[in-house]
Amino acid sequence: MTQSVMASDKTEPAAARPISILIVEDERIIALDLRQRLNQLGYSVVGSAANAQQALALAVAEQPDVVLMDIRIEGEIDGIAAAQTLYAETRIPVIFLTAYADTETLERAKATLPYGYLLKPCQTAELNAAIRIALARRDSELQLERSEERQRLALDAGQLGIWEWDSEHNQLSIGGHLIAILGAPPEAFTESCDTFLARVYPDDQSKLQAALERMKTSNEVLDLVFRIVRDDGAVAWVESHARAYKAAPSSPTRLIGVLKDVSEQCRIEMQLRRAAAVLEATAEGIFIMDAAHIIISVNPAFTTLTGYTAAEAIGQDAEILLHARRRHSDEFYPALEHAPAQQWQGEIHFQRKTGEIFPAWENLCLVNDPDGSLAHYIVAFADITALQEAEAELHHLAHHDPLTGLPNRLLFQDRLKQALERAQRLGERFALLFFDLDDFKTINDSLGHASGDLLLQTVAERLNKNLRRSDTLARLGGDEFVLLLESVKSSEDCARIAQIQLNALSQPLELAGERVSISASVGLSLYPDDGSDTMSLIKAADTAMYQAKAQGRNRFCLYASEMSTHAAKRLTLEQGLRRAVARVGLADNEFAMHYQPQVALADGRLTGVEALLRWNPPDAATIEPNRFIPVAEEIGLIVPIGRWVLEQTCRDAAAWQRSGWSGRLAVNASRLQLAQRDFDETVRAALTASGLPAHQLEIEITETSLIGIEPGMLERIKALGVQIAIDDFGSGYSSLSMLKHLPIDRLKIDQSFVRDLPADPDDIAITEAICALAHSLRLSLIAEGIETAAQLAMLQGMNCNEGQGYLFEHALPADAIPALLGRQVPWGALFERSPA
Ligand code: C2E
Ligand code: MG
Ligand code: MG
Repeated sequence: MTQSVMASDKTEPAAARPISILIVEDERIIALDLRQRLNQLGYSVVGSAANAQQALALAVAEQPDVVLMDIRIEGEIDGIAAAQTLYAETRIPVIFLTAYADTETLERAKATLPYGYLLKPCQTAELNAAIRIALARRDSELQLERSEERQRLALDAGQLGIWEWDSEHNQLSIGGHLIAILGAPPEAFTESCDTFLARVYPDDQSKLQAALERMKTSNEVLDLVFRIVRDDGAVAWVESHARAYKAAPSSPTRLIGVLKDVSEQCRIEMQLRRAAAVLEATAEGIFIMDAAHIIISVNPAFTTLTGYTAAEAIGQDAEILLHARRRHSDEFYPALEHAPAQQWQGEIHFQRKTGEIFPAWENLCLVNDPDGSLAHYIVAFADITALQEAEAELHHLAHHDPLTGLPNRLLFQDRLKQALERAQRLGERFALLFFDLDDFKTINDSLGHASGDLLLQTVAERLNKNLRRSDTLARLGGDEFVLLLESVKSSEDCARIAQIQLNALSQPLELAGERVSISASVGLSLYPDDGSDTMSLIKAADTAMYQAKAQGRNRFCLYASEMSTHAAKRLTLEQGLRRAVARVGLADNEFAMHYQPQVALADGRLTGVEALLRWNPPDAATIEPNRFIPVAEEIGLIVPIGRWVLEQTCRDAAAWQRSGWSGRLAVNASRLQLAQRDFDETVRAALTASGLPAHQLEIEITETSLIGIEPGMLERIKALGVQIAIDDFGSGYSSLSMLKHLPIDRLKIDQSFVRDLPADPDDIAITEAICALAHSLRLSLIAEGIETAAQLAMLQGMNCNEGQGYLFEHALPADAIPALLGRQVPWGALFERSPA
């Protein structure tokens, strides 16, 4: 046979090499013979080795398909041992070719599972058959090995365990990853089915057993998830797929299946289920939107909160649907993507389906794809309206006085701090007014605390009425209130407000069935005049308040440093005047009338008296009319004061008249009185009430008041029978032509012209001119302020009719006048010395 044998049944390409053979034979002749015969058969002999080492080296180098191995070879290692090593290392099939067939050799050779055993000498055909059979066996073994490898790899890849149950012997064989899954020691590779079942979690045992029983009789496929308890006590979830089979119809049923640890999946599934339950049950609205902000899922609370059903919301742009009023800005989402935490939380307004807006606390987080790109946003939100209301309520409680509802000390201090900062920034002034009720303790103790509370509430209401929006009224505690006035111009402004508030407080009120009058003492401090920080301003206002208390209560005081200024003095004056006017007509009236005699310059007879007003405040010395009358005019109080003056002087003069006096009562009238439409009525009423004959009354009007006088007023006064004198003549600007047309009786030469007589030639000239004018207009003349005999003499020389001045008498209290009236020529001595 010369035809070469091709390894056609191997998985090699068609143009495969011939089957290669390694010969291991220490007898060279036999080896040569073998080579020739093998070559004739078409095999390729890759080499001949004489000992084990050569054989191994050649086998490794040449990778022959078959090794023909002699058992007795050179060296210490014989063919059997060499074959064993060679097969173990190269998996090349070995055929023994030997002359020995003794039992011992056979037994040793058998143990190496040789692919053939030929006895020398052997036939070529025999050799060929042995080689072909060895190769065929090797091929099938290789295929089996490959399929096992595949199975092993598949089980490996799927992390699967494999089990087989021999129902006849109730034996379980297990493999693959099952040992690892069970956490069992390797001995458990084969165990009884009962031992395995004992590993199953007690609750799941019956279910598994029942399934296995069913499978024995049916063709059913088992798909079951159950728990097992590992040897370390941990519980694992496993999933098994199995089915029954019979090797032959008569053979017993075997069940074979795979098992997989699905604990992780179960855990995730549980987690998902829990998450879904939370999503369903939570009171927070939750929605998921895609990368383009389109809503893709909502929970029930979402519907409760927004009014949109899932169907209405899904597919909508969340920003448009829910944040209609104030959306997240365009930069918001891109910024979020790059934010380290990829989440945001904060307050935002949501809009309900009804259009209603509500504040919500929103929690927004990004969810990325496994590849890291943005997939979804998950948004959770809660309606915080109630929270905000409660917060506001708490804030209100913490910052307000529960009795009056006014800001408390805490809030006041806050506002004061802000006012200070504002005033510093804008260069403005602000004021603090400290109110302390007078005698509050008495009211509280005598009428009870309920009345005290009511009183405090009334005070708060009254003070609150006259405020601007920027003002803060606070209750500091007890009966202490404080008013913060921002952007004030001057202390006068503040004083006016203090006075308004004092007036408001002074209205009587009904408490526990009693009519109660209340008042307060007020201390005023100004920023920056009285302090540059809140502490010193509070202290200043407090000090001023105590000053007001000390000065007799029911008044306000500016802080002392300010007290010295003109403005403050004026304010005190103003306040006092108001108080004095309020007392007009009472027994302890602060006003009094003094009377200064008027004298005939020809003989010294008493012709009349000029009534001059005096004010005696309870806490200060008598105040001059020149100081308080301009103020009274400015604040309009001159009208009621003037009315009282008329009434009082007419009463006094009427009494003198009743005891025989027929002289003149000259009463000063302010331009403001003359501007009153009903001034003549006031005059008439005073006359009527007192019974003084009208011709005994003269009204003194200053030159300047002639401008702006109520038209026809002088005529109406005159019509009453009352006389009219122009006071301080020469000091004002009356036009001489006007004098001619006015119903005037007398001119009073201003004392400034008399003062420097007879020394000043200008004054002499003016006085002379006034005298000439009076005479030509047929007006009577009276000179004011005669202090010296020389002045008297000069005026007598100018034919001035009357005079008045300290030379004769100062203004005297009313009760000093009757004594004077009794004397015919009280100043006769003066006239005796004067030239006739
Ligand atoms: P008048 O009407 O010119 O009153 C005269 C003022 O000169 C009075 O001052 C008087 O005390 C003062 N006097 C009198 N004799 C002399 C003197 O020899 N030397 C000096 N140096 N002064 C003398 P008085 O009482 O302080 O009044 C000042 C002004 O107040 C009055 O000036 C008058 O304009 C106003 N006045 C006084 N009482 C009233 C009043 O009842 N109503 C109104 N509307 N004004 C009044
Ligand atoms: Mg006068
Ligand atoms: Mg005068």
